[in-house]
Amino acid sequence: MNTESTEAKIIAWLATQEQAMLDALEAMVNTDGGSYDKAGVDAVGQIVKDFCESHGIAVETVRGEKFGDCLRAVLPHEGSGAVRTRGNQAANIVLMGHRDTVFPKGEPTRRPFTIKGGRAYGPGVADMKAGLVMNMFVLAAFKKFGGAPGPMVGLFTGDEEIGSPEGRAVIEEEARGARVVFNSEPGRATGNVVTGRKGGVFSIFEIEGKAAHSGGNFEAGISAIGELAHKIVAIHALTDLKRGITLNVGLVSGGQSVNTVAPSATGQIDLRYVNPADRDEIMGKIHAIIEKSYVPGTKAKLTIKGEFLPLTQDEAAARLFAMYQGAAKDAGLDVKPEFSGGCADSGFTAAQGAPTICSVGPVGGLAHSPEEYLEVASFVPRAQAMARAVLRLESAGL
Ligand SMILES: [Zn+2]
Repeated sequence: MNTESTEAKIIAWLATQEQAMLDALEAMVNTDGGSYDKAGVDAVGQIVKDFCESHGIAVETVRGEKFGDCLRAVLPHEGSGAVRTRGNQAANIVLMGHRDTVFPKGEPTRRPFTIKGGRAYGPGVADMKAGLVMNMFVLAAFKKFGGAPGPMVGLFTGDEEIGSPEGRAVIEEEARGARVVFNSEPGRATGNVVTGRKGGVFSIFEIEGKAAHSGGNFEAGISAIGELAHKIVAIHALTDLKRGITLNVGLVSGGQSVNTVAPSATGQIDLRYVNPADRDEIMGKIHAIIEKSYVPGTKAKLTIKGEFLPLTQDEAAARLFAMYQGAAKDAGLDVKPEFSGGCADSGFTAAQGAPTICSVGPVGGLAHSPEEYLEVASFVPRAQAMARAVLRLESAGL
């Protein structure tokens, strides 16, 4: 097999696909799919499925109960010769992305897909429907021309924006059999990719006090709001910026009326950290604060609502980045590594030992806002960079 000519064919074909990519993106952006809208996220999945199947790529569905299904577009290894293994199976080259968005129902009707001055707009246009489209076209290119150094899987999940409550198990299983993982979250506004991310734990604590008339029967009351105030100060004091540990109580509620000693109060905590070992230490300290009663007589409990693991870079992931950087350079892109405090599914795959690189999708910015945009001109080169990187895995010892 002449790899060089396969690479040239793939690169040339992708160069002709910008309009087709934009058409697929338009259909996806205009299909409503917030994380809690299973039907909508699955409708976006149907677009992925139809595209893959029309290009001869089989798609498996892992049903989600409450949230969008996970789809696995599977491209078996077609060449001869040995492929890399993990465990006792051929290791998959995984292209990953999520289909859900953060937007409320009806957003695409209010703000449909548009292109103005080289930028595309619409809910999820960059985060991360463009990345999904890119993954689809890269898979289609390898299906059409062959040349992939092993089996490939496109993993399309449905609940990343709420911490992947159902997707996580599927992602972790995929990662355990993965050779490498490319997560096509949007490239940074600078065009850079992400090689490290913080982990995050999102939790809620509920405090129980005792109601009493705050004028007539003050001494009989136990203030849950008083307790809340103490806990917030103690939790925030766990912040350690040097270690990259931050704590934010971002939502609070409580009380019954201004003249009632508050019988209940709640707070929601966002913990972010860099070093995987720090997680249990800080969670232990949070638990101690929740269990302690600063206001005698109050009780409290803590529930974890969602969690992401940090994206860490081991030696193999560093080689993956260096190789990707060269592949991007050949596609005309100057790409540097960035660290992000934001969380993503790439943390789960890295934690399973799969060399992972994140934010290799087309370049965009202002995600999660009405101003979210995609740089249209980055669509083709980012797809070419990924295709080249897949072709060069072997040479990078991956
Ligand atoms: Zn995203």
